[in-house]
Amino acid sequence: TGGTEEAEDIEGVEKVQTRVTHSIVFVTSEAAPYSKTGGLGDVCGSLPIVLAARGHRVMVVSPRYLHGGQADKNYAGASDLDCHVKVYCFGGEQEVAFFHEYREGVDWVFVDHPSYHRPGNPYGDSHGAFGDNQFRFTLLCHAACEAPLVLPLGGYTYGEKCLFLVNDWHAGLVPVLLGSKYRPYGVYKDARTILVIHNLAHQGVEPAATYTNLGLASEWYGALGWVFPTWARTHALDTGEAVNVLKGAIVTVDRILTVSKGYAWEITTVEGGYGLHELLSSRRSVLNGITNGIDICEWNPSSDKHIASNYSVDDLSGKVQCKIALQKELGLPIKPDCPLIGFIGRLDYQKGIDLIRWAIPELLEDDVQFVMLGSGDPLYEEWMRATESTYRDKFRGWVGFNIPISHKITAGADILLMPSRFEPCGLNQLYAMRYGTVPVVHGTGGLRDTVQAFDPYSKGGLGEGTGWIFSPLSKESMLAALRVAIMTYRDHKSSWEGIMKRGMEKDSTWENAAVQYEQVFEWAFIDPP
Ligand code: ADP
Repeated sequence: TGGTEEAEDIEGVEKVQTRVTHSIVFVTSEAAPYSKTGGLGDVCGSLPIVLAARGHRVMVVSPRYLHGGQADKNYAGASDLDCHVKVYCFGGEQEVAFFHEYREGVDWVFVDHPSYHRPGNPYGDSHGAFGDNQFRFTLLCHAACEAPLVLPLGGYTYGEKCLFLVNDWHAGLVPVLLGSKYRPYGVYKDARTILVIHNLAHQGVEPAATYTNLGLASEWYGALGWVFPTWARTHALDTGEAVNVLKGAIVTVDRILTVSKGYAWEITTVEGGYGLHELLSSRRSVLNGITNGIDICEWNPSSDKHIASNYSVDDLSGKVQCKIALQKELGLPIKPDCPLIGFIGRLDYQKGIDLIRWAIPELLEDDVQFVMLGSGDPLYEEWMRATESTYRDKFRGWVGFNIPISHKITAGADILLMPSRFEPCGLNQLYAMRYGTVPVVHGTGGLRDTVQAFDPYSKGGLGEGTGWIFSPLSKESMLAALRVAIMTYRDHKSSWEGIMKRGMEKDSTWENAAVQYEQVFEWAFIDPP
C-alpha cells in the first residue's frame, strides 16, 4: 500500500489533489472480457482498469474457465506463472495454479483447477447449476488469499497490507478466511475487506454439514450459520440449519457496498433483503451504495464496430440506419418509422420476463416491433421461439448470449424495456441512454436511481428527463408507460429528440464511481479490523 502521492508543481498545470494509493485485490467469479454472464463481469472488467489508471496497484483474481468453445481464446494472453499452491479444504489438500496477464495497468490473475474446465458457463450448463459450486468458489477464495502473498507480479508481491474487494457470495469466504486462517498467525493484520453486493438473491447457501468442507476453524461457524425461515423448510424434521457464505461475508467485512444507493436501502427492507434484511440493517453504519459506471469505449455509438452506422449526439442520422440494419438482419419488415422496442438480459424471474409475456398480445396489436435477446430459463426460451412464429412481422426473440447483437439492439431500438422485479444497478439502461435509446423501466433499485422520468412541462415547457419509470410492477402500468413513450415517439418528435439527447449526454463514466470507491477505501482504513 503506497504512501502519499506528491503531485509535482508544474507550471501551467493545476496541482493534483493529494491522494493515497492502495494495493487492491478484486476477487470475483467473472471479469469481462475473460468471463461474463452479466453486470458483475462488466464491473470487474472495467473498474480495476480505472482504479489502476488513478495510481492504485490492482490485481483481479478470478477462475480460468475453459468451456471448450471460442471463449477459451480470451485467456490466450495469460501465461502460466509456474506457481502451484496447496490449500486445505474439502477434506484434503487441493492444488491450484495461477495464470497471469498484465493488461491496461492491471494484473489479471486466473486461478487454474480442473473443476473450472467444463462446458457451460461459470455457474452451470443446460442441466442447471453445477453441483460442486461450493467447492469451486471455496477454492477461488483460498487461492485469492494466497495470491498477494506468493505471486511476484512485476517482480514483487502485493503483500499483506492490501485491500480485498470481494464481489458477491462467490468471493464471500475471503474476509472469513482472513479472520479464521491468517490473522491468528499475524498475517493480514493490516489488510481491509470490502464486500460489493451485485445481487443479494444469490447467497451460497448449502446444508450446515458442509461447513467442515470450507477450511475454516470450527469456532467461526457462527459467522456463516444460518437458519431457513419455517416456510422454506422441506419437512417437519428439517431444522432449517444451513451455511450461508454471503452472510459470513456480511458479518466479517470492514465495509459493505452495493451497486446503487437505491439498492443499498432496498436490501435493508423485508421485501428486498432475502432473509438478510435485519442483519444488513444492523450493519447500516458500514453500508453504502455506489452506482456503477459504464465502459464508454466499449459502449460508444460514435466508434462502435458492431453497429451499421456510427452516430453521436451532434449527428443522430446514423441511428435510423442502425434500426434498418437490425430489421434487415432479423428479417423484420423495414419500417424506419415504426417504434422498435428492445429487451436484453437474462431470461430470469428477476427480469420480469413474465410481464413481457403477458403484455405481448396487447402490445403487438399496435403498429410496433419488439426484439428480445436473452438466454436462461428454458420455458422463456421456448416462449420466445413460439412468439416469433406467431408474430412473424412484429417479434423476434434471439435465444443466446451474443455481445455483437446486444450492441446492435441497443443502437437500433427506439425504446429499451426493463421491467425488472428488482435491479441492483442495471447496465442496459445506461448503455441504452448512451445510444439515444429511451429506457422504460420499473421503478426499482438502480433503475430508479439512473433514469430520470420525462416531464414535458418542466423547464418552461422544454421538458426534462431521460425515460419513463413505471410502478407498481404490473402489466397494466408497464403497458401504460410504453404507450405514452410510443405516442411521444410518434407525435412529439422534438420532445423525443430532447429525451434522447439528454440520455446521451448523461455522465455515466467510471471516473465518478472510482472517486467514490476511493472515499470508501479511505474510510475502511480508518478503523482497525
Ligand atoms: P445482470 O447482472 O442482472 O444480468 P445487468 O443489467 O447489470 O444485469 O448486466 C447485464 C449485462 O449482461 C449487460 O452488459 C448486458 O448487455 C449483458 N447481457 C445480458 N444478456 C445478454 C445476452 N443474451 N447477450 C449479450 N449480452 C447480454
